[in-house]
Amino acid sequence: MTSFLAFANLCQKVEATSGSLEKIELVAAFLKDLDEAELPVACSYVMGSLFPPSLDLDLGVGPSILYEAIAKACGCQAAQVSDMLRATGDPGMVASAMVERRRPIGFAAFLGEKEAVSLSLKDVHDRFLSIARASGKRSQDTKVKNLQFLFSQAGPLEARYIARLAIEDMRIGVGEGGVRDAVALAFSGSGANAESVERAYNLTNDMGLVAVAARRGTLGELSIMVNRPIKVMLAQLGESIPAAIGEIGTAAVEWKYDGARVQIHKDGDAIRIFSRRLENVTASLPEIVKAARQISAKSAILDGEAVAIGKDGRPMAFQEILKRFRRKYNVQTLAAKIPLRLFLFDLIYLDGKSLVDLPLTERRALLERIAIASPDLLADQVMSGSVEDAEGIYRRALDAGHEGLILKNPSSVYAPGKRGKNWLKIKPVMETLDLVVIGAKWGEGRRASLLGSYRLACRDQTTERLLDLGWVATGLTDEALAELTEMFSELIIVEKGMELEIKPAVIFEVAYEEIQHSPNYSSGYALRFPRMVAVRDDKSLDDADTLERVVSLYKGQRGRGNSA
Ligand code: AMP
Repeated sequence: MTSFLAFANLCQKVEATSGSLEKIELVAAFLKDLDEAELPVACSYVMGSLFPPSLDLDLGVGPSILYEAIAKACGCQAAQVSDMLRATGDPGMVASAMVERRRPIGFAAFLGEKEAVSLSLKDVHDRFLSIARASGKRSQDTKVKNLQFLFSQAGPLEARYIARLAIEDMRIGVGEGGVRDAVALAFSGSGANAESVERAYNLTNDMGLVAVAARRGTLGELSIMVNRPIKVMLAQLGESIPAAIGEIGTAAVEWKYDGARVQIHKDGDAIRIFSRRLENVTASLPEIVKAARQISAKSAILDGEAVAIGKDGRPMAFQEILKRFRRKYNVQTLAAKIPLRLFLFDLIYLDGKSLVDLPLTERRALLERIAIASPDLLADQVMSGSVEDAEGIYRRALDAGHEGLILKNPSSVYAPGKRGKNWLKIKPVMETLDLVVIGAKWGEGRRASLLGSYRLACRDQTTERLLDLGWVATGLTDEALAELTEMFSELIIVEKGMELEIKPAVIFEVAYEEIQHSPNYSSGYALRFPRMVAVRDDKSLDDADTLERVVSLYKGQRGRGNSA
């Protein structure tokens, strides 16, 4: 049985290694020696997730439960834990330091520290399962107790990774791609390679399942299953309509609906709906469940967009849809205010068979057949190679308040998790904002000595105060970030843990997908998906955009400024 300490040692080594190849080699060597029950657990843990999405389990541990458990296990105050966290920004380090100086209490004191139980990987996982499954009135208590048990048994190194697992952020620099390569390397003797592992992962979305199959040499047998969400196919940004038609030729032209992605699994009468991030949102979306019941298929996986339709018949702002997706109680009341409509555009699985390898035209034909009783559930699609036609459809989509077009290659297969040229999205280019940098945050891991994200503000034209609008991460190379870090090092006012207050002097030109109302920022607005376009050292503070302009851009967004 593998000890949790062995796993924590692996994590420490991987964290201290900078090369990605070396990280992968370390993980692969570790995975090779695990048994079939431990293998899935280690695969998930290394990438910072506790359970595969198909288990539909959420740990439900927020910072307060975590602090309380650490404090109770170590005989200190929760406030001490949170103070230390503010100073270091890393729950793992805090847990480790607290455990290091813990006074032995309870059972451990009685036995003497050395005789305390040593945790196995399985013990830790069993506790996490109990925490996730705790429900009802006393669930908070159960969660704290189980976590407290883990911290009371853990040494400092184990505590570091238990705390990071509890918040599902391992900070060891191995993501999905790294684990995929490690699995391929560990089980290459059984015929696994990066490609076969990736394919199996995209179809199952469960790295543990994939790792076990890779070891057994049965990767080829894994396929899509109803009730197990798979990654959705994504669209690449097209340059323009003529360029997209030039690339694809005759294309399936569809509106890019302004809504949120839904993946619907129909298994007889049982319907499950997953969001783009593959969270189970079934209970929040009763009208989508009802719509999906009209599909005539025994089993199916459908892909589509849920759109919130306002009283004026136009799509409501994205954040309204998010409210629906997040709502757990009084769902019907909110559904009456923010009704959703379903537009289906793809069919991934039908009556026991995966359709991912069929061309789009065949998938669409099957989709039309099973939606024959309710054709208004289908997204409109026009097959055309004419730039003029596509431009007409584009204008109509924008006039109706939607985002633009998606042009799809009619012969393309469904590529789960891929953002490729077979789906090209066309949207109007947003105007950019010139905003003042008023704060910054240190990066993580390799970028710990670089400022990786920046707090932005606009000007209040009447009071001349700066009002914040959120954060932007730059997406720059390390070299460019180092230059920026140096530039800002002159402007630091005060450092609070990972965050810095910056003297307002530098202007960033920032693009974004949408402006939203937000109570979290003093401007009252936030940018959705902000991207830094340029450092505008040609501009001074007085040139920064005003709140007035932010509000006017907000109102002008596809003519639906009044809907939020
Ligand atoms: P983006 O979020 O900008 O990457 O655009 C891709 C998203 O557009 C998808 O994830 C869907 O949620 C959404 N979408 C809207 N209409 C369609 C459509 N007809 N086909 C595919 N995706 C669509």
